[in-house]
Amino acid sequence: MTSGSPPVPRATAAPEGLGLAGRTAMVTGAGSGIGRACASALAAAGARVHVVDMDAAAAKAVAGTIGGQAHVVDLARAETVAELPADVDILVNNAGLQHVAPLTEFPPDRFALMQRVMVHAPFLLIRRTMPYMRARGWGRIVNISSVHGLRASAYKAGYVTAKHALEGLSKVAALEGAPHGVTSNCVNPGYVRTPLVERQIEAQAAAHGIDAAQVVSEVLLSRSAVKRLIEPEEVAAAVLWLCGPHTGYVTGASIPLDGGWTAA
Ligand code: NAD
Repeated sequence: MTSGSPPVPRATAAPEGLGLAGRTAMVTGAGSGIGRACASALAAAGARVHVVDMDAAAAKAVAGTIGGQAHVVDLARAETVAELPADVDILVNNAGLQHVAPLTEFPPDRFALMQRVMVHAPFLLIRRTMPYMRARGWGRIVNISSVHGLRASAYKAGYVTAKHALEGLSKVAALEGAPHGVTSNCVNPGYVRTPLVERQIEAQAAAHGIDAAQVVSEVLLSRSAVKRLIEPEEVAAAVLWLCGPHTGYVTGASIPLDGGWTAA
């Protein structure tokens, strides 16, 4: 810095700039893992949070903990979307599921279910909530994609297809939302320490005859430069940042939280 340059502003310690008081958020799949962490982070920043999940006990427990409102719906059933609120400022499309099988043996009904939950439901929810966001001149759509929205892995036809489709949907929402102060972005985590991944670790350990630690280091993290799983709270921090005051110009983006996987 030259002596004539203005001083660099000091970072404030408190996240007061992220204050979401007066904002309403809806998080799908908020009963567990990443969704629960997002719901907690948004509530801690002051938002009123709708906690959406098909697991009634989990949805109610999270809503009770964060002072939010539980909605017990199965997002695979398109008609249930009409039961959810339309008047939200922040939509986090997070609910998802995994199925691992060779393409030639992939159960067609499982493939279709994954598209319904991870593509069709986000489409219906964006369609339902965007008019309210547009009317208020501000909105944040955050789609929990995956490194598998950007890269493929064998045996994950349903998941990779759904996440690539979600990427496209997010970009269209970004273009249509931009004139109205509405952003739409994806976040793209590598392997996150959640029940969804714990189930994969158990299945892979059984399939390969190795222990869980080896599955993590030799299978899951083989393409990640950072050799650890990412925590749900780290994903939630990125989601919260996208809902903050400095990200109005960030839209149509896909933010890798993948330990360098896609850099290689
Ligand atoms: P999780 O299994 O811990 O939680 C998923 C939640 O979604 C559960 O509470 C479940 O009940 C709910 N859900 C599933 N199907 C639903 C339906 N039809 N209707 C309503 N709710 C439903 O999983 P997670 O790891 O927290 O995953 C959350 C999202 O993050 C998913 O979209 C997943 O693809 C994505 N993701 C996960 C990882 C990872 O490594 N865990 C990595 C990248 C992306």
